[in-house]
Amino acid sequence: MANFQINPQRLEQWVEQLWRCAGSELNEAQDTAKHLVLANLSGHDSHGVGMNDRYVASCLNHELRLNQQLSLVHDAGALFIADGQRGMGQSMARQAMDLGIERAKLHGHCIFGLRNSHHIGRIGHWAEMAAAKGLVAVHFTNAIGAPTMVAPFGGAQARFLTNPFTAAIPRNGQSPIIVDFATSAIAHGKVRVAYNKAVAVPDGCLIDAKGHPTNQPAVMFEADEQGAFGSLLTFGGHKGYGLAVVCELLGAALIGGESIHPAHFPQQYAIWNNMLVILIDPTRLGQAGYFSEELGRFIQWLESAALSEDSEMSPAQSSEAAAIAASLYPGRVLLPGEPEVAMRLARAKAIPIDDTTLAQLDRCASRIGDARGHSPGPLSQMKD
Ligand code: NAD
Repeated sequence: MANFQINPQRLEQWVEQLWRCAGSELNEAQDTAKHLVLANLSGHDSHGVGMNDRYVASCLNHELRLNQQLSLVHDAGALFIADGQRGMGQSMARQAMDLGIERAKLHGHCIFGLRNSHHIGRIGHWAEMAAAKGLVAVHFTNAIGAPTMVAPFGGAQARFLTNPFTAAIPRNGQSPIIVDFATSAIAHGKVRVAYNKAVAVPDGCLIDAKGHPTNQPAVMFEADEQGAFGSLLTFGGHKGYGLAVVCELLGAALIGGESIHPAHFPQQYAIWNNMLVILIDPTRLGQAGYFSEELGRFIQWLESAALSEDSEMSPAQSSEAAAIAASLYPGRVLLPGEPEVAMRLARAKAIPIDDTTLAQLDRCASRIGDARGHSPGPLSQMKD
């Protein structure tokens, strides 16, 4: 358990202030702060405020560009491609989703691409935006910029990043179904945590530089005698691999974005995302009533499954969130999206920040202070 805990609103204010000091206009600073804090609230610390370290480095290195406006490079109404201008991903994706949702409401559906955006964080955030407007959403996303870290099935060398797949299905009066995961067996952030704590990772997540299975996170951070690193595996063997390939090709190549290969190799700090989004308004398919009823019947059937004896909510979630989930959804399996709902309740008053992340955030504030002459001050000194 981290020692440092902070109220979510205070944390959001601090992150907003950090980006105001860096030079973001108010909307961009607010989009960034809301998004990152909601990721922590949802239990996805790997995509929460800790990302500021990378974003600040990218910004100060003139990779991430602040205060960009989305540019439409192809506009055919219900089909469009927007260029994120290397801008702050939380602002670019919000602008693209606003336009996509507007078009989906107009036409009944919308398929769009967002390309050349700085890191857009937790993709579930964007899917939830669509679901809140009653839309079904499917997202295929690729990432480039960091050195490759996931091996193709059967390969011994990394060739791509953790390309997430995401989908949202709205439900009347209930939280939407949100499926949102990386196609790697384990998030890279979780391997780093294991490395820092000198503990093993579970079976089936990593191979060393020769392609042998290993539980040692060091293979990702310490080169072997030939100077080579290990790789993450995809989840579900060849199945996760296939989905990662689809995310790469549909999320980037199809929309004119950069897929990952040596011609597009790393910037120093930035992570770039490209994303294909499919939005469908169920009311315009003429099946809205049936869809809602049939969805209800299927969910009821799912929930009637007896719990397995060693059932647990998710290895990534806290025991407090598991207890909340057990009281919110007693005696039944969870639906995708429900762990995040429980986690938001568990963290509503305080978000834990681990010592490494806290030190990085303090460093972000001082780097921005040095570069811009203004800083929100160290987070570690903030009192609730
Ligand atoms: P994860 O392994 O924690 O899986 C999360 C998904 O599984 C959610 O849909 C959650 O509701 C569901 N889930 C978890 N436990 C469940 C249970 N017991 N029953 C039913 N459903 C359950 O996610 P991850 O792979 O660690 O990814 C974390 C985040 O990282 C995601 O939000 C993803 O979008 C983000 N990500 C972003 C990028 C990027 O380039 N921007 C890259 C990779 C991942």
